[in-house]
Amino acid sequence: KWDEILQTIKIDHDLSDISFDTWLKPLKVYSVEGNIVTILVPSEQVGLNYINKKYKLPLQVTISELTGIDRCEVQFILSDDVKKITSKNLISNDTRFEEANLNPRYTFGTFVVGSNNKFAHAASLAVAESPGEIYNPLFIYGGVGLGKTHLMHSIARFILEHNPDSKVLYVTSEEFTNELIEAIRNGNNTAMTQFRDKYRNIDVLLVDDVQFIIGKDATQEEFFHTFNSLHSAKKQIIISSDKPPKDMEILEDRIRSRFEWGLIADISSPDYETRVAILKKKEEMDGYDINEDVIKYIATNIKSNIRELEGSLNKVMAFANLEKREVTVELAEQVLKDIISPDQQKIITPEYIISMVAEHYDITIDEIKGNKRNSKIVIPRQIAMYLCREMIDIPLKSVGKCLGNRDHTTIMHGCEKIEHELQTSDTMKNTIEVLMKKINPHR
Ligand code: ADP
Ligand code: MG
Repeated sequence: KWDEILQTIKIDHDLSDISFDTWLKPLKVYSVEGNIVTILVPSEQVGLNYINKKYKLPLQVTISELTGIDRCEVQFILSDDVKKITSKNLISNDTRFEEANLNPRYTFGTFVVGSNNKFAHAASLAVAESPGEIYNPLFIYGGVGLGKTHLMHSIARFILEHNPDSKVLYVTSEEFTNELIEAIRNGNNTAMTQFRDKYRNIDVLLVDDVQFIIGKDATQEEFFHTFNSLHSAKKQIIISSDKPPKDMEILEDRIRSRFEWGLIADISSPDYETRVAILKKKEEMDGYDINEDVIKYIATNIKSNIRELEGSLNKVMAFANLEKREVTVELAEQVLKDIISPDQQKIITPEYIISMVAEHYDITIDEIKGNKRNSKIVIPRQIAMYLCREMIDIPLKSVGKCLGNRDHTTIMHGCEKIEHELQTSDTMKNTIEVLMKKINPHR
């Protein structure tokens, strides 16, 4: 294809053999990411400026024409520079993504597009390609586990990959609230200034699950000013919520109207084909090889949300692995019988609580159940204990059983720890509140 592209330029622009051999023939494609095509220029070749001036446009046009890459952008890179950049970028890239709070699993590449999310996906991609320029803010809404967070991370990552110097920050509204609470509690101006510096000197702000700031006056107020400051500077804002702005009761009107300034995109429940596609993508990514009928069985029976869809597949695979059994429809039926309840009423189980806490803290379920004692794990573990006791009516002994076979005094101790925290720490109060609403939105 590359040769064909070069030949087409030669013909279209009526280049002599000498011109062609000197300027175009040595060029190679280095990378293609989205619409950005990076072309490698051998370092011994002189005249990068000349190539840039004279051949950039023809290359862009011809590549777009022949490959279907929309609005192709060509950039050149000298072969000598490649080594330097790759060795440097590999390290700095990772820290940049980490600093922006991004989960490497959530990218456009791993996002399955279906009829339920087509619009939200297209809007997200458009915003990722031209941040601050078209839809501002982008407001994504939809029920739990339907891919809002996945899309937001994808946008942030895409922007960072294409504009390595831009400042991108993803936060949950809970983090935003907790940081604000801390800044206010510190009671001095520097803490507040630092908070504002952090949120107003960036190019792209993503705030996930904004519904959790509703009714918190100080947070709403601060968020309002953050929004205005970024928006008037043409910085991109991306917001997610479980409801559209018009259904967010007790949200201040001035904030609601701002949410409606840009584009509002919804994600609904996936249809059967999309559910199958998502399971197959997961199968491929995790390197499983699963019988088609099992995939169909899970896709037929788990309808409401994608987190549960993935969780069900994991559960089946883990069980088969543990029992050294083949993955069949019968096995899936047996493993999933509690989840696939006939009355479709969502029951909150300890397992569900543990999985939500794990996800919230970005740690694994096994870590919560396990014995690691660093605070990154211990606190979520105690929170899981507390939530199990508060939210479901089962004896502490059963809670302990689900949490890595701990005895009931350990559970009691964990719950007391959190109770104590709740009396002294507003951020813990906020966190527990958010988690309870996440686990049971109808509370
Ligand atoms: P939400 O933020 O809307 O509650 P998430 O973005 O956390 O939902 O999605 C829940 C899980 O489902 C995640 O593991 C995510 O990767 C997965 N998921 C959601 N939508 C898709 C999709 N379209 N393709 C692939 N995986 C998806
Ligand atoms: Mg989410």
